[in-house]
Amino acid sequence: MNKKIFLCSICNINSGTCKEDCKFCSQSVRYKADIERYIQKPIGEIQKEAIAARDNGALGFCLVTADKGLNDKTVNFVCKAAHAVQKVAPQLRLIACNGTATLEQLLVLKEAGIKAYNHNLETSESFYLKICSTHPWSERYETCQNVNKAGMVLIAGGIFGLGESEDDRVSMLNSLASLNPTSVPINFYHHNEALQLSPNLLTVDEALRLIKLTRKMIPQAQRIMVAGGREVMFGDRQHEIFDAGANSIVIGNYLTTTGRAMNKDLEMLNALGFNIAKSVVG
Ligand code: SF4
Repeated sequence: MNKKIFLCSICNINSGTCKEDCKFCSQSVRYKADIERYIQKPIGEIQKEAIAARDNGALGFCLVTADKGLNDKTVNFVCKAAHAVQKVAPQLRLIACNGTATLEQLLVLKEAGIKAYNHNLETSESFYLKICSTHPWSERYETCQNVNKAGMVLIAGGIFGLGESEDDRVSMLNSLASLNPTSVPINFYHHNEALQLSPNLLTVDEALRLIKLTRKMIPQAQRIMVAGGREVMFGDRQHEIFDAGANSIVIGNYLTTTGRAMNKDLEMLNALGFNIAKSVVG
C-alpha cells in the first residue's frame, strides 16, 4: 500500500460565469444554481487560501476558472494569481484548470510558474453528447494532448455517477490511459436541485470498485485522486478509498460546494497511518 498521500487544494478564482451547458455543472449560468458567482476573486483572498492550504499540508494548489476555455484576459489573470501565490507560498506546486487551452496559452502559463494543467475528459466520447451540446469531447482530448506537448504535468480524469454505462466508464478510462496522465482526478456527481441530471445512484461499493478500476486501467499514473463528491459519496467509509487505490485527495472546499474542515482529513490520514507527501517527482 502506498503510505504517502498527496493533498491538493483548489481555488475557484472565477466562479459561476460559464455559458456552456454541461449538465453536471452548477457553474453554468444556464441552470441558475444557487452558488456564489464572481468574475475575479481578489488576489489577497487567493493568497490567504494558498497560505491556509500550505499550512494544512497541501502540496498542490489549483487555480480554477469557470469557463469553456482560456482567453487572453483569463491567461493574464491566472498568471497574476500564480505570481501572487508564489510570493506568499512558494512551496506550493501550482496547477491551473481553465478549460480548453492551446499550446501557446499553456506555454504562457508554464512560463508563469504553473507546473501542471488539469483538464478532465469527464466521460466517454459517446456519452458526452448527452451531457454537453455546446462543445465537443474532442476539444477536451486535444487540450490534454496540448498539455503533454507543452511539457507540463497532465492531470486528467472524469466524473462518475452521471448515468453513464459501464462501457462508457471503460471507454473514458481507456482514453485517459492513452494520454498518460500523471494524476487522475475522479469525481463523483454531487446532485444540485437546479441541474437536470438525476441524482447519482452509485453505491459506495460501486464507487470503490470504480477507483480500483481506474487504478487497474491506468497503472502508470502516479496518483489516483478522489476529488469532488468524496464526502457525499463515501460518508463514513471514506477511509476505504485508499485501500481501493487512491493516493491523493482534495482538501478543503470544492468549486461550489463545501468540503469538510481540512483538519478532519488530516486527523483521518493520521489515524490511518499515512504520511502526507512533501514532494512529488511528476
Ligand atoms: S465548460 Fe466547465 S465550467 Fe463550463 S459548464 Fe462545462 S464543466 Fe462547467
